[in-house]
Amino acid sequence: MNEHIVIGAGIAGLTIAKRLNCPIIEKSRGVGGRMATRRIDEQKFDHGNPCWPDSMRTQELHRGCHVPGGMTSLPKKIAKGIDIILETRVLKLHQQKDHWLLETDKGDYTANKVILTAPLPQALGLLDESKISYDPQWKLSYHKSIVGLYRMPVSAGAQDILREHQIYFMKNRGLCEDGLSFYLSAALSEEWFELTDAEILERTTRLLWTILPERLLYHAEIKKWRYSTPETSHNTPFLKPALGLILCGDGFLYPGIEGSLASAESVLRDLLK
Ligand SMILES: Cc1cc2nc3c(=O)[nH]c(=O)nc-3n(C[C@H](O)[C@H](O)[C@H](O)COP(=O)(O)OP(=O)(O)OC[C@H]3O[C@@H](n4cnc5c(N)ncnc54)[C@H](O)[C@@H]3O)c2cc1C
Repeated sequence: MNEHIVIGAGIAGLTIAKRLNCPIIEKSRGVGGRMATRRIDEQKFDHGNPCWPDSMRTQELHRGCHVPGGMTSLPKKIAKGIDIILETRVLKLHQQKDHWLLETDKGDYTANKVILTAPLPQALGLLDESKISYDPQWKLSYHKSIVGLYRMPVSAGAQDILREHQIYFMKNRGLCEDGLSFYLSAALSEEWFELTDAEILERTTRLLWTILPERLLYHAEIKKWRYSTPETSHNTPFLKPALGLILCGDGFLYPGIEGSLASAESVLRDLLK
């Protein structure tokens, strides 16, 4: 039996598991969660969180915006030495007399305490599945996000024009010479989210051709995030829906990475006191 189990190998889950020396169950193939970098044709593209916020808390891990090797290299560094059970989705949480049983798609795990770091709508969805009640006021909305990963030459000045069309791009400096990650605004992402990837690509590419007459395009694909950043945050650092069960992550204190780290630090203080 584990003393603690963390669900989710994003920055919050990794920070907690590293300090508690406990396992993490993660549904994806790799670590990092929304701090995501994708490899295309041997080139790397950041397509989750694009920029490392500049604060005292985050500077302990990294300074500056671009992360050499891609945004995921930071969580990967923290992940070293942690027992991470990948490609395993937690389906239900069962409260036993004095511990928790985690039902996953690969078998069951047990722990005295469970720390759930999924984006809050997904965490509450898991509580619903598990018939664990909670205050409806805990619900938070998240911004959707659509990111276009393009390999193409881009001329100076394009950034300003695209911004007028609610598209913000980051040149994947140091990752891919001709690689661009386009972040559609929250409003445009919401409006286009139910379109197919092909339809979104068609719209963004049509727009790009109006300002980039060379019409050179080596590769293009779309990544959609249903939960990118919370629209608002809880002003408590974490929530406890039941004894031995903690919800934390970027829905608490501040939206984004800053909130994830602050929430994780508070959980650790609470568990280690
Ligand atoms: C496009 C985009 C742009 C962003 N821009 C910014 C920005 O500019 N500034 C900023 O500060 N932040 C930004 N963010 C948000 C930032 O990336 C997140 O706040 C932060 O990475 C969240 O970390 P986390 O560990 O709390 O959650 P996550 O990284 O989401 O980690 C949770 C993990 O839980 C796993 N999981 C979920 N459910 C289950 C389950 N049932 N079983 C097993 N595993 C599960 C998920 O796979 C995931 O790996 C952005 C995010 C995106 C996507």
